[in-house]
Amino acid sequence: MSSLLQNKIALVTGASRGIGAGIAAELARIGAHVIINHLQTPEEAESVARRIIQDGGSATVRCFDVSDSAAVKHDVEELEEQVGPIGIVVNNAGIVRDRSFRKMSADEWHAVLGVNLNGAMHVCSAVVNSMASRGYGRIVNISSFVAQAGNFGQTNYAASKAGMIGFSRALALELAPHGVTVNCVCPGFIETEMWRSIPEQMRESILKRIPQARVGSVSEVAAAVRFLVDEGSYITGQTLNVNGGIFIG
Ligand code: NAD
Repeated sequence: MSSLLQNKIALVTGASRGIGAGIAAELARIGAHVIINHLQTPEEAESVARRIIQDGGSATVRCFDVSDSAAVKHDVEELEEQVGPIGIVVNNAGIVRDRSFRKMSADEWHAVLGVNLNGAMHVCSAVVNSMASRGYGRIVNISSFVAQAGNFGQTNYAASKAGMIGFSRALALELAPHGVTVNCVCPGFIETEMWRSIPEQMRESILKRIPQARVGSVSEVAAAVRFLVDEGSYITGQTLNVNGGIFIG
């Protein structure tokens, strides 16, 4: 196993499955100790950790709700005491509550903003002082092409993911002098449970809109995150699109 990130601790939120699990495995593969955060999916999270350990990596599982600022602060403090200082954060936890805007309830709006955008802010808030004081940090926020292109029925999701991009740019400016980079990765449609749950007819019509005529893989998103973490020392405030050409801009 490579040891590019030896002695680095990486917190990946929402890492019990899908894209987050792939990112955790990739960062572990190059030597990081990964903290697999999840919400109410302990078996899936333990199984991600087991696979990482079987492959020679190291991992810790931790359940907390990223939308709960007090829980995030408490758990990050405790983790840093137990495991060590967190140098890498991937804000990946995300939810959808799709509905056309005219039918969307305020609760559906706030739930999505609460996890996707506020969650990223809570985690960043809990780690940035310690990163800045040590002069090293890599923050990668998982946004979406929907932030850039919009999508029917996803005003709440699009707002949360576009908010992540603006947040990342502003935070990148504040943290640049302290050795901390902040970037976004915007995936297009990725082969996850979410994709597989879309009815076949709709999947076929989506595929027609993707210039590369296929969905992306979890490992293609994980590779982009690994690049920003491991080789992106002079890249900050940027948005890296991993989307098969569905949005070019
Ligand atoms: P998923 O639904 O398969 O997994 C979500 C993860 O987030 C799970 O581990 C879940 O436990 C965790 N989670 C949910 N709410 C949480 C909370 N409040 N606190 C902590 N953890 C929480 O998701 P996915 O499809 O792998 O997507 C991962 C990220 O990538 C999301 O932010 C999503 O918006 C983004 N994204 C996904 C796609 C796609 O095609 N799947 C495309 C673009 C962007």
